[in-house]
Amino acid sequence: MFAVCEPDSIPVVYDSWGEWREDRRRILTEPPLPTAPATVAFCALCWGQGRIWSAARNGEGLIPVACGHCQGKGVMHSAC
Ligand SMILES: [Zn+2]
Repeated sequence: MFAVCEPDSIPVVYDSWGEWREDRRRILTEPPLPTAPATVAFCALCWGQGRIWSAARNGEGLIPVACGHCQGKGVMHSAC
């Protein structure tokens, strides 16, 4: 097991040079995958946190509660 530090990237740990070659081939030949599908957007109310601050029942400050707009998921799926 060893770590490879490519320029402009984070260190990546590989178990073998064959695994590194396969990963390198995949990076150079395949288009990059999107981090999220185009139909997904962060919730505008909680900004993707899934929680919002709400007044505590005892009146002593704020507590995090699940966002009611996205049901605590943090993302919204559109039907485009
Ligand atoms: Zn939300």
